[in-house]
Amino acid sequence: NTSTMRRLVIGNWKMNGSLAENGRLLSALLDQSGRAQDAELAVCVPYPYLAQAAQALDGHKAAIAWGAQDVSVHARGAFTGEVSADMLHDFGVRWVLAGHSERRAYHGESDELVALKAEVALAAGLAPVVCVGETLQQHQDGLAHEVIARQLGPVLALGAERLARLVVAYEPVWAIGTGQTATPEQAQEVHAFIRATLAAAGAAQVRLLYGGSVKPDNAAGLFAMEDIDGALVGGASLDADEFIAIAAA
Ligand code: PGA
Repeated sequence: NTSTMRRLVIGNWKMNGSLAENGRLLSALLDQSGRAQDAELAVCVPYPYLAQAAQALDGHKAAIAWGAQDVSVHARGAFTGEVSADMLHDFGVRWVLAGHSERRAYHGESDELVALKAEVALAAGLAPVVCVGETLQQHQDGLAHEVIARQLGPVLALGAERLARLVVAYEPVWAIGTGQTATPEQAQEVHAFIRATLAAAGAAQVRLLYGGSVKPDNAAGLFAMEDIDGALVGGASLDADEFIAIAAA
């Protein structure tokens, strides 16, 4: 990748960790972050651990920022179990995932809801990571572009100014947690499509992350691609050595 955009590597811890495990992981990440100085790093932790991440990483925010894995579209009130963008902001959150495929699949999040989450996050000063990607069936049916265009539709409607402040992550569902990563060429082909789609909306400079079984041994190949500006890392983000090795690649 020859662009001047700073590479961005975000860990998605999903529903993993404990106070003790996170404490060890966060300090190992800080110890090793010097090896990945050229990249911008962040970890998206479960809600209860935001305070822990903030405390551990504050003062090192330039090295590793922290984020959440979801956000409510509501500002406050009778929405049991929800967490607002302002609450995340209170804990120093920079990044928030919007529309991860697990949210779309298990919580019925629609393309419109995902775009609204991105909008609400931006309004609170957070940076959304809008996740898109096709399922295995859609992949096999040759529908990847069509599915992604549909997922991006309501996001594009946010307009160029807001698009410039978010990140898009392409995560083919068939590659998430399966150990079956897209090849760099497969990922690049879709990233080029997403780039063109964003460019048509006046937002060619949006950083595009690839996600789905990114590991130290496949990261460099992915990052060499023209339109891959970083990674969203699940499983490998739970291991400091692996996460930093990916970011250093
Ligand atoms: P994985 O997850 O790296 O474990 O495949 C990626 C993601 O779901 O964000």
